This record gives sequence, C-alpha cells and structure tokens, in this order.
Amino acid sequence: MENAINIIVLHFGFAEDASIATVIASSRMCFTTEEAAIKSLANELLIIFKGKLPSKRSCCEFNMENPANRFCSKCGLNLETEADILDEFYNWLPTLLAMDYNSFGYDEWFEECDYETCWELGLSPIELVGRDRDEIVVIEACADLELAKAVGYKG
Ligand SMILES: [Zn+2]
Repeated sequence: MENAINIIVLHFGFAEDASIATVIASSRMCFTTEEAAIKSLANELLIIFKGKLPSKRSCCEFNMENPANRFCSKCGLNLETEADILDEFYNWLPTLLAMDYNSFGYDEWFEECDYETCWELGLSPIELVGRDRDEIVVIEACADLELAKAVGYKG
C-alpha cells in the first residue's frame, strides 16, 4: 500500500534543549514519502518566514551588487544573504511553539496560499487518534534542523 502522508508532528531541539510541546502540521495534500512531505512543509514555512522580513528596495538591490556590503548605504537595511536568511529561519522555527494564529499571520497567509495545497499548523492531538500510522510523520527531535536542511540550510 502506498503511503498517504498528510500530517507532520514536530519536536524541536534535542536532549535537554528538546521542546516539551509539539507542533502538528496537516495538509489536504497527500505525500508518498516522508522527505517530500517535510520538504513541502519546509518550503511553505520558509515562504511565510521570508514574508516577515523587511522587503528590499531598488537602493538595496544596487548595494547588494557588492557582496562586501552588509547594509544598504541608502536605507540601512540589512542585506542578508540566502545563507543568513536560512540561519535565521532555523532559529525562527522553534518560536512557532509560542505563536498563535495572529502572530503567525494566518489571515495574511491564507489570502496568499492555495487553500487546497497549503499546510496548516495547530492541529489538535486528538486528530491523531485513530489515524493510520502511515499517514503521519513524527520528527521526534531536531525538527528545526531537519526542516531547515530540507530547504538548503547547511548547519
Ligand atoms: Zn536600501
């Protein structure tokens, strides 16, 4: 039987840094491999995270042409590289534990995303009861690292 994964249970951190709470993500889409499901969720979370960063203007684009520039000389924006952003993304992921629908920005996100394909966070654990084990990916530790690596974070 083919897997139909559509739930990912996330535990952030490791050992004594492990989170005592859990984030459960669910999708209306089904995935045949754990890797595909994790990559899909990670991609979506990265889009949401990037949406929270201040947007670059034309002055910033000009200043980014010189890789030695760390800040825009005109508006002062931090000219982060993709590696910087992935580093911040990795650090941002465990903060999901303390977020609510407002701070996560669900209203804005649901206006942008395709409701049929997007992931939703905040599923109640009761929804796991009676589900087929093959539908669920459980990342028992370091979910932050695993998600960040799925979108290119080098650690
Ligand atoms: Zn600028």
